[in-house]
Amino acid sequence: MNHRAHCDVLVLGSGMGGLAAAALLATDGFRVIVAEKMPRIGGRCSTMDYDGFKCITGVVGVETRGVVQELFERVGADFDVREAGPPRYLINGRICQVPSSGGMKQLMMAAGADAMEVEAVMNAITGALHWRTPTAGVPLGDWLRQYTSNPGIMEIFQALVSAVLFVNVNELSVHTYFEFLRKLKGIQRFGYALGGSISLARSLARVVVDHGGEIWTRCRVNAIKSENNIVRGANVSRRGKSISITAPVVISNAGPRETARLAETGIKDHYYLRELEQRMSPAMITALQFAMDEPLFESNHLLVTGAQSLNAVYQPTMVCPEWAPEGRHLLVAGSAPRNVQEPFDGKYEIEQCLADLSAVFPGFESRAKLLLAGTFQGGWPGMHSLPGRDMDMKTPVINLYNVGDGVKPLGYTGLPGVVATGIHVAEEVMGRNRILTGAP
Ligand SMILES: Cc1cc2nc3c(=O)[nH]c(=O)nc-3n(C[C@H](O)[C@H](O)[C@H](O)COP(=O)(O)OP(=O)(O)OC[C@H]3O[C@@H](n4cnc5c(N)ncnc54)[C@H](O)[C@@H]3O)c2cc1C
Repeated sequence: MNHRAHCDVLVLGSGMGGLAAAALLATDGFRVIVAEKMPRIGGRCSTMDYDGFKCITGVVGVETRGVVQELFERVGADFDVREAGPPRYLINGRICQVPSSGGMKQLMMAAGADAMEVEAVMNAITGALHWRTPTAGVPLGDWLRQYTSNPGIMEIFQALVSAVLFVNVNELSVHTYFEFLRKLKGIQRFGYALGGSISLARSLARVVVDHGGEIWTRCRVNAIKSENNIVRGANVSRRGKSISITAPVVISNAGPRETARLAETGIKDHYYLRELEQRMSPAMITALQFAMDEPLFESNHLLVTGAQSLNAVYQPTMVCPEWAPEGRHLLVAGSAPRNVQEPFDGKYEIEQCLADLSAVFPGFESRAKLLLAGTFQGGWPGMHSLPGRDMDMKTPVINLYNVGDGVKPLGYTGLPGVVATGIHVAEEVMGRNRILTGAP
């Protein structure tokens, strides 16, 4: 038997993009259903309990005092994030700390660059930030090599963009890089969610439910329905039942490719489908999670330069001891392949990340117990799209939107980018679709 349900807005997926949109729309009076195929919410901003350790499914560090915190305040959700200090940097085998102002110069000096080289790079950066953004289509690496041939300087940029934007200096457009720096407006502040990253998703889900919305977990969307190029809802399966949900607006958090697949023959615009294939390039990364008796270094976050693939090591328990059993520590190591054009070999990436950890931290094997090793690709990537290669939030089907990290605005990455898409789409629905659909 086919069951039926109706709502004003159906949100496909409970990642932070979907929940951001759902929370805003619910507080504005829309009746929202969030359909999530997994038993837990949050997608790649969630938590898996592993021997008492709050292991990540994606997000480790959360930007504070930016768009994410603003959204939580706007919808009245708890933002229980404890701020962490600035990261440290591993340069030439030494851990360095740099001040929040003038830090880039000091990093380059620590890498062995002389004052003239540093000056040349800093002048070029100032010009690109405040005068003319360099030509689009030029890779950051090529642009930098006009001003320096110092391998230490290149390694610093490599570590920064690889850890934060999940891409390499030779694959990131210099234009996208400076858009990102402009959006940052100075030093980024971040922290860790006290209850694990899932607690952020739970806060937003609570807002949805408190305003009459529903979160359906273990509910898979099988097809998005449309008629005459206008979305009509979706067919889902939940607890062995097939349910046809009618909704005048559908917001998909599943990633643009999966959205297009689920929309079946609804998308008639073949140029859009071709763009989807050619433009989108997912960020594939590796994350290893370890249990430790003692912290490995005296900071919560270390950016690693000069390693083969390892780019960042987090110790969230230095800030939130709640993430591990009492007296113990969780360590998360992240890496990205040096060449995203080559086929991603997950086994090799994990081995390389382990080898880097052993090379960088003597005695690492005897101090750390591996809890989880994961490569993030396919339907669960680092990001659905590399920065600067995102698709539009609107699909060719009227009232079918994408949110999430495949449609980030230029200059954004990770969670802030994802939340920005949720806000953007929700505001569009509140403004325009209220008239189009007759919703409250
Ligand atoms: C290892 C790793 C570390 C990261 N670290 C950070 C970090 O420290 N800071 C940061 O800001 N960002 C980080 N990121 C990036 C960040 O995790 C993502 O950008 C963000 O969480 C993605 O959110 P989203 O809303 O786009 O989608 P997702 O979180 O992927 O949510 C999509 C949801 O849709 C559901 N879904 C899919 N298909 C269906 C269907 N057919 N029916 C029903 N439900 C469906 C999925 O189950 C999922 O729950 C990291 C990512 C990874 C992988």
